[in-house]
Amino acid sequence: MPWIYRFGGKKADGSAKLIDILGGKGAGLAEMTNIGIPVPPGFTISTKACVEYLKTGKYPKQLEVEVKKGIKHIERLTQKEFGNPKNPLLLSVRSGAKASMPGMMDTVLNLGLNDETTKGLASLTQNEFFALDSYRRFIEMFTDVVMRLPQEDFDKIYEEEKQASWHLIELYKQKVVELSGQPFIQDPYRQLWRAIIAVFESWNNPRAKEYRKIYKIPEDWGTAVNIQAMVFGNMGEDSATGVVFTRDPATGERKPYGEYLINAQGEDIVAGIRTPLPIEQLQQTHPKNYRELLQLLKKLENHYKDVQDVEFTIERNRLWILQTRRGKRTAKAAVKIAYDMAKQGLITKTEAVLRISPDEVEALLHPMLPDKVKAKPLTKGLPASPGAVSGEVILSSAEAVRLGKAGKKVILLRPKTSAEDVAGMAQAVGFLTATGGMTSHAAVVARGMGKPCIVGCEEIIVDEANKKVKIGNQEINEGDIITIDGTSGSVYLGEIPTVEPELSNEFKTILKWADEIRTLKVRANADTPQDAITARKFGAEGIGLCRTEHMFFGASRISAMREMILALDVETRKKALSKLLPMQKEDFKEIFRVMDGLPVTIRTLDPPLHEFLPKEEDAINQLAQEMGYSVEQVKNIINSLKEDNPMLGFRGCRLGIAYPEITEMQVQAIIEAACEVTKEGKKVFPEIMIPLVSKVDEFIHQKRLVVKIADEIIKKHGVKLQYLVGTMIEVPRAALTANEIAQEAQFFSFGTNDMTQTVFGFSRDDAGRFLPLYIENGILANDPFEVLDINGVGEIIKLAVKQGKNVNPRLKIGVCGEHGGNPESIEFFHKIGLDYVSCSAFRVCVARLAASHANLKSKEKISYH
Ligand code: PEP
Ligand code: MG
Repeated sequence: MPWIYRFGGKKADGSAKLIDILGGKGAGLAEMTNIGIPVPPGFTISTKACVEYLKTGKYPKQLEVEVKKGIKHIERLTQKEFGNPKNPLLLSVRSGAKASMPGMMDTVLNLGLNDETTKGLASLTQNEFFALDSYRRFIEMFTDVVMRLPQEDFDKIYEEEKQASWHLIELYKQKVVELSGQPFIQDPYRQLWRAIIAVFESWNNPRAKEYRKIYKIPEDWGTAVNIQAMVFGNMGEDSATGVVFTRDPATGERKPYGEYLINAQGEDIVAGIRTPLPIEQLQQTHPKNYRELLQLLKKLENHYKDVQDVEFTIERNRLWILQTRRGKRTAKAAVKIAYDMAKQGLITKTEAVLRISPDEVEALLHPMLPDKVKAKPLTKGLPASPGAVSGEVILSSAEAVRLGKAGKKVILLRPKTSAEDVAGMAQAVGFLTATGGMTSHAAVVARGMGKPCIVGCEEIIVDEANKKVKIGNQEINEGDIITIDGTSGSVYLGEIPTVEPELSNEFKTILKWADEIRTLKVRANADTPQDAITARKFGAEGIGLCRTEHMFFGASRISAMREMILALDVETRKKALSKLLPMQKEDFKEIFRVMDGLPVTIRTLDPPLHEFLPKEEDAINQLAQEMGYSVEQVKNIINSLKEDNPMLGFRGCRLGIAYPEITEMQVQAIIEAACEVTKEGKKVFPEIMIPLVSKVDEFIHQKRLVVKIADEIIKKHGVKLQYLVGTMIEVPRAALTANEIAQEAQFFSFGTNDMTQTVFGFSRDDAGRFLPLYIENGILANDPFEVLDINGVGEIIKLAVKQGKNVNPRLKIGVCGEHGGNPESIEFFHKIGLDYVSCSAFRVCVARLAASHANLKSKEKISYH
């Protein structure tokens, strides 16, 4: 195999296929050559040579011969000669790995200049300043990148001299001797070899190593080295350099977008010293080149079938393309571009669907911060629910309710939230908590409500007594305005205006295309009629989880709920339940109406009871009064309900078993609502779900109650109503005995939140404290409450699916934990044959897209862009 691959001219030695050994840049230059794009000629040293050098400390002997051959190739095509003062060839030497590692490795430009060739270049171009300035730039880069000399001294000389001159060059050369003990290398071949070795070695510089760690790029790839004839955009007014995208990367609009500078080199654009001109202006300043450029952009886009980010240079009226790569774009642009390209026939609908990454889609649904935010974040936490919002910091739920109702925009900041905060959360525009992980109460509620939320902001110290918080050195008083960005997890002081997203028609169409591809159904977790409306709007095919407890937090309901919990005897409890019944029934009726024709899974009461109880003195007094109990008595009951480990305590079906009348009331509300809405002519498919079952007998106990009540009511109403009774599978014992449970249950829904908690033994409420550390140290790749732990939790789910389907092939199986909206996890759920995933309404579009990707990926090996 050769060590070098030539490009430029009519045909290259390599092509895009050889990206492994040519690197991204080299492969691009070869490919461009082959499709007739004018690139300055050059050659690529294969990554294999780099690997060999890094392994042995020596480059392969044959490489010397081949590099000479490569130089000859460039000389032939440029009609210039390397090192010849009369007509000097200058080279660029650049790194280029298989994966893009922008700015991580080294580049040397203008190589081949020395005292003699600079003079030659000056007389050849009739432009001594240009020649000297090129020499100056070369010495700076070479001493920096190759010789690793400190640059401050050179900077100082340049600042004093102000511009390139022979005098400056002399001072530079003296400085080189002073710092390195050797004269500046004059022999062009020696310069070249030093530069090649420096690029090889730059693969292992600390920056590049760190970058590879973050982006999981293998250490043993090595970099290619691209050696290419220099072209100059700084040869006068007939020269220019610029960067242009084939379409607008911010909006996706179908017209070139970019900028350029006349009489400048590429680095001048990046440096931002001069303000570049918009690309359209090139039509006036260099009309012939503009027309040519448009044609080339079209050719590149048609060839790569994607938006290209192109670097070009005009040297004395001649246009060269230096580089092309896939153009990075915003989520909004990605959607428009994919849609337009499919409509144009450039790509298929399936390709268009694959072009949109499910992760970025969510960003399209919430107001967000503009791309460039100047302000520095105060602190960062876990990005629990996307979108950005500003508001007054409020530290208590009661105050949030009061101000929220008065029309103020408030951000509820709590050490952590619990069910008691839900009323305040409903009035707040966003939440921020000091503790908690991705499935903590605040995170789950926020995603359900579609509000921005940041959790686990460990730097925040809440001083509730003085109504203050401290973030690092910054003190914030209640009422101060902050902005939270739940997409990135950043918290800012003051208001930062957000931008409103809209569901474009292009996006809706791509989602429809995705629906045609996927087999996994997508439902939504929705607790209220409002949630159900949102869920349908986003295309949910049913409700996979209605957490009934969330219905009990309205002002009029919480007191009835509290009475029910505090009741000292069954009669009092039944009286309180009878108050809750009509409210719950009304909610169900509305949800059933909204979900006409689609299944609705309703779960019986799940959370620990104490979550509903008041903590504040006023509320306790009021409750005592309403119930005719003494304050002492109420406090005693509240105390008796306290648990050390409530998440593993008196919750789930354990409640329904201890207080069967709760289950009975809920079933009555569900089935009466279903019968009545059926009579209205709607199609209702209720699915009643029992939470936290670990032993089949728990399920049997609850199922008996459900069936007894339900059948009685259906009979009374005389309607035809089909309902299912199933269970959450969310603790390991349930999964391990799935064969027993599946004989009784009509459906399984995996509660991956609790399953993750119990398989790992990580508390959902407290894991936020150490999980970031685990991720930082590489102990975990992701937060397992966000991305399903496939090897552990996934294995247990797989086992349950297999066992369940074995004994009951008609068993319907879904998932309703937070992972149901996570693309990586969805891929797994598809693979193991689940029927549906259920996620918060705002994630439904994400899941629709992810489910289609999962199906395509399982059929053939297709990677995300
Ligand atoms: C779960 O545990 O995954 C689940 C969906 O239930 P919850 O989050 O309400 O406990
Ligand atoms: Mg659960």
